[in-house]
Order: sequence, then structure tokens, then C-alpha cells
Amino acid sequence: MAKIHILDEHIANQIAAGEVVERPASVVKELVENSIDAGATRIEVHVEEGGLEGIRVTDNGSGIEPDDCGTAFYRHATSKIENSRDLFHITSLGFRGEALPSIAAVAKVELVTSHRDDGMGRRIRMEGGKLLVEEETPAPRGTDIHVRELFFNTPARLKYMKTIQTELGHISDYMYRIALSHPEIAITLRHNENQLIKTLGNGDLLQVIAAVYGTQAAKAMLPIQAENLDFELRGFVSLPEWTRSNRNGISTIVNGRYIRNYGLNQAIQRAYHTLLPINRFPLAVLEIKMHPSLVDVNVHPAKLEVRFSKEQELYPFVEESIHRVLRQEVLIPQAVKQN
Ligand code: ADP
Ligand code: MG
Repeated sequence: MAKIHILDEHIANQIAAGEVVERPASVVKELVENSIDAGATRIEVHVEEGGLEGIRVTDNGSGIEPDDCGTAFYRHATSKIENSRDLFHITSLGFRGEALPSIAAVAKVELVTSHRDDGMGRRIRMEGGKLLVEEETPAPRGTDIHVRELFFNTPARLKYMKTIQTELGHISDYMYRIALSHPEIAITLRHNENQLIKTLGNGDLLQVIAAVYGTQAAKAMLPIQAENLDFELRGFVSLPEWTRSNRNGISTIVNGRYIRNYGLNQAIQRAYHTLLPINRFPLAVLEIKMHPSLVDVNVHPAKLEVRFSKEQELYPFVEESIHRVLRQEVLIPQAVKQN
């Protein structure tokens, strides 16, 4: 008898879930990215017990058409690419069609969605990868997806979850990054009964900085704006007296995507020259726009690292643009005082 056979869809989804759904924060990430891809201008995230009990994401995006609702939970079902040519011009955050089936394989999921404005939509309930309910239901335009009892059927995975505080920390870190990189989206994060983040979605980055780091921090920020032929830089950096004990307050956003890049971080710190006390780091939120051909976004969507083809030009540009502002704000007033 032949020994090689093709795994059924259910097992394949459980295996994929092992990679896609590492912890509650991965579910939040996948659902929020779907909301952003759907053009939402308002995204509400409500998690319970570090997300292990429940994760609910509600958006006012495009919604899903009734005929697509069931399909969305199939493996490799996506509305975001159609052919292999599309692979080279990906503008969405998702495109693999793996998130929903993976999440549904290891949790209890209820999806309510409507793509119309007539108040009607569709409701789907899945449990451990099995479809329990699909029916018509009253629903506002947008999507509301509620994931409960994550890993209820994979006890080995559940055992590896850390404390509620640790899982919540991963979720809020991710939501802070999303808020900072999307000031045009109104974002809320609630944990149990506590509201942790609320942004207005009016595009004002300084307001988002105040929501994430507090109003005192926001008051210590200096605006940065500069451009040359290749790059456009805007955002805020803190006065040298407003520092932190780690680099986590440095956020870099390239073409709308939150990224991590060692060279950029170094350039930002170098801009302060000797103004920073030893082992202290600035708060900075900087958005850089450049032609997509100048940045190699790592193809793995979970990774934040990118490479720049003109890094020799980019790093000095960033350093000098920030340094110029700091010199004006910090050094010149001091020089005046000395006279
Ligand atoms: P991918 O995002 O890679 O396409 P997912 O499994 O995350 O795959 O989602 C499958 C499909 O379901 C998406 O391509 C999209 O058409 C639809 N979808 C999922 N979430 C939403 C949402 N919040 N709003 C509108 N459509 C959604
Ligand atoms: Mg997705």
C-alpha cells in the first residue's frame, strides 16, 4: 500500500496554526492586519485575560460578502492576490490566506460581517476548525470577530503560554506600534475592563504619541521634517533631557510599515552626539517615505527587519536632519545664555 498521502484540510490547518498562531498577540496581529487591509478607519480590540480567554476585533472596514464568508476560512483563501504576477506588487499586509483557517483550527471563533449598509450581514461560528453555524444576521457594515479559548484543543501549546501580564505585554506592544504607524486609524485596546490605548484617528501623530507615552512625553517632542531627492522624513524626537533606559522608545516607520533597522537606530542616536547621558536613549517616532524599490521588506510578514539599497545615503540624511533640529533647539539657546 502506498505510504504517502495528502493531509486533509483539518490537519493541514492545525499544522499551519503552529506557525501562524504562536500566542494571543499573533491572533491580534493577524486580525488587526485584516482590518487594516479592509480599509478600516476604526479598529477596536478587546482582550480578556491576556487574550487567552478572548480576543475580539471590531472594524468598520469593507466587510466580507456572504458568498465569501465560508471560503475565508479555507486554507490559501485570499482576496488579496489572484496570480503570481501579483506576488511582486503586494500592497496588503496579508496575502497568504492562512490566518483565519489557522486561528479557527485552534480556537472557538464567531465572525459577524457585513459588506453592505442595509443592516444585514452574515454570522459564522467555528470550533476547532469545524463549521457550526452559518446564517444571516443583522450587522452593521464591517467585521466583528471574536476568538475565544485559544488553544483549547491543543493543550501542549496552551501549557507554554506565559502569565497574563506577559501575554498582554506582547499584545499592547504590538498595538502601540500599530497606533504609531497608523495615526489615521482610530484605535482602541481594552484589557478586561481597562482601556489601555485610545487614539482618535485624525492623523495627528503627536496625539498618538501622547496616547502611547503620556502627555508629558509628547510635550518634550521636537518635530522633524526633511526631504531630499530619495527620502522624506517626518516625525518627532525627544529633547535630550527626556530619555529612557532602553531603545524601545525608538520607532521607525517606512512607507507606512513599522520596521526595525539597526543602522537607522544608530543614526538617530548619533544625531544627539554627546547630548544623551550614558546608557540613556531618546524617544523617537519617525516616518520615512521612499520609493518602494529602495527598500527590501523581508518577504516573511512576521519579520520587521528591512534592508535599504541606499543606506549610505539614508543614515547620514536621518542623522543630519535630526541633529539640525536639536542644535537649533538645544545648543543655540544655551549659547545665547552664556553671552
Ligand atoms: P489573507 O489576509 O492572507 O488574505 P486571512 O486568512 O487573514 O488571509 O483572511 C482571508 C480573507 O478573508 C481575506 O483575504 C479577506 O478577503 C477576508 N477578511 C478577513 N478579515 C477581514 C476583515 N476584517 N474585513 C474584511 N475582509 C476580511
Ligand atoms: Mg490576513
